Amino acid sequence: MPLTFYNTLTRREEEFVPLQAGKVGMYVCGPTVYAAPHIGNLRTFFFSDILRKYLEYRGYDVRFVMNLTDVDDKTIRGAMQKGVKLNDYTQPFIDSLFRDFEQLGIRRADVHPRATHYVDGMIDIIRRLEERGLAYESEGSVYFDISEFAGYGKLSKVDVSAGRRGERVAADEYDKDDVRDFVLWKSVKPEDEEVGAVWDTPWGRGRPGWHIECSAMSFAELGETFDIHAGGVDLVFPHHEDEIAQSEGATGKEFVRYWLHGEFLLLDGGKMAKSTGNIFNLGDLVERGIRPSSIRYLFLTAHYRSKLNFTFEGLASAAEAVRRIRDARDRLREHPAARDPDPMDTPSLHTAADEAQAAFTAAMDQDLNTSVALATLHELVNRVNARLHELGTTAISHAERDAALRAFERIDSVFGFIALSEAESAVDEDLSAWVEERIAARQAARKARDFAQADAIRDEIVARGIVLEDTPQGPRWRVDA
Ligand code: AMP
Ligand code: ZN
Repeated sequence: MPLTFYNTLTRREEEFVPLQAGKVGMYVCGPTVYAAPHIGNLRTFFFSDILRKYLEYRGYDVRFVMNLTDVDDKTIRGAMQKGVKLNDYTQPFIDSLFRDFEQLGIRRADVHPRATHYVDGMIDIIRRLEERGLAYESEGSVYFDISEFAGYGKLSKVDVSAGRRGERVAADEYDKDDVRDFVLWKSVKPEDEEVGAVWDTPWGRGRPGWHIECSAMSFAELGETFDIHAGGVDLVFPHHEDEIAQSEGATGKEFVRYWLHGEFLLLDGGKMAKSTGNIFNLGDLVERGIRPSSIRYLFLTAHYRSKLNFTFEGLASAAEAVRRIRDARDRLREHPAARDPDPMDTPSLHTAADEAQAAFTAAMDQDLNTSVALATLHELVNRVNARLHELGTTAISHAERDAALRAFERIDSVFGFIALSEAESAVDEDLSAWVEERIAARQAARKARDFAQADAIRDEIVARGIVLEDTPQGPRWRVDA
C-alpha cells in the first residue's frame, strides 16, 4: 500500500513520491517568537513531529527544517514595548519553545533557521523578482505584483479577480478579502531603527516582509524545489500563497510538491489564539498536574485535518488510555521468559505483533490516520492482556515476548507517548526519593529539637510544589495539583 497525503494544492489524497528516492526534504513554518507558544501552536508542531517520525518509520532519510520568525510586525512591536533590541526580545521565547518541545517529546528539527540570519537570501530573491518584472518599488518598499504571476491563488483558491490591480497591502497578516499586491521589503520606520531591525539594500534601509523569509530559508536549507511544506491552516492564505508566488516567480520552477495543513486546536469551541487570550501554555497544564504524555495522546485521537476541542475530560481519558497501554507493555516486559520456546506454546503474540504493525502502517499510510492507528495499539494491548492472563505464572518464550515488545517500540517511535510517560515516571521516582529523604532529615532535626532546621527543610520541600501534612500517623505528602 502506498503512503498518501492530502495535498492542499490539489485538494486530493495523493501517493507520496519524493523527488529523490528514499529522501525527503520538508519545511514547516515555525513560530513567530513574540510570545511563549500555547498548546494550539504546539498541536501544529506536534503534527509536524508525527509527520517526520512516520516518514522515518517508513525508512525515509528526512531533512526537516523548521524556521523561527524572529523579525516581523509582532516581534518588532513587542521589542518596542519592552524597550529592548529585537534579538534580546526574541531569545527567551526561542528558549521556551525548545523547553516545550522537549517536555512534549517533539524532536527538534535538523535545522531551525532564524529569519534574521537569512536576509541576504531574501534580498537576492527580491532582486530576481524585479528582474523578471514581478516586483516593483514604491516609496522605498518593494511589492509583489500579483497580476503578473499567472499562478496566484492556486493554493488557497482565492478569487484573484476580486483584487484591485495595483492596490497594496503592507501588513504581514491580512485577510482573504485583501487579495492585493503584498510587501516583500518594507522601508525603514523609526521603531525598526530603535530595536535594531534594519538592513541596507539596493532599495535603501528597511526590513523584510514576513512571507519572503520562508522562501529564503527554505531555498537555503532545502533547495528551490522540495517535497513537503506544512503548517497550520491559517497559513494557506496569504502566507503560503505568497510563498509560492515569490518562489516560483523568482525561479520559474515548482516550489513544493506536497502542501499539508494541520487544523486548529479549539478551546470552548473557539480557536485557541494569543490575540484573544483564549489560551493554555504547556507550563500552565503541567502545573495543574497534567502529564505531557496525555497531551500527546489527546492530539493523536483526532486526525490532523480535523479540529480538536481541548477539554480536561479529554485529557483525563487520554491519561487513562496511556496508563492502560503502558501497564500492558510493562507487565509483558516483566513477565518471566523461558530461554526455549515451549513446544505447547502457540505463538499468539507473534501474530498479534505482526498484525498490529501492519494495521498501524495501513492507517498511517492513509494521510496519517492517527485515531485508527491508536485503535490498533489498543487491540495489541487486548491481546497482550489476554495472553498474560492465559499464561498465568507460566513463562513466555523470549521470542514471543520480544516480538510484541518490538511492536510497541516501533509504533511508539512515531507516537512517542509511551517513552514520554516512562520518562515522566522516572522524574516522579526521583522526586519521591528526594522528598522521602528530606522528610527523614526533617524528622531527625525535630528529634534533635533543631526546629529552625526542621522549618528550613519544610520550606525547601514546599518550594518544590509539594504539599506536606503532619498526621497522627506521621508526615504525608503529595504533589500540589
Ligand atoms: P504563530 O506563532 O502565530 O506564527 O503560529 C505558529 C503556528 O501555530 C502556525 O502554523 C499556526 O497555524 C499555528 N497555530 C496557531 N494557533 C493554533 C491553534 N489554535 N491550533 C493549532 N495551530 C495553531
Ligand atoms: Zn512560513
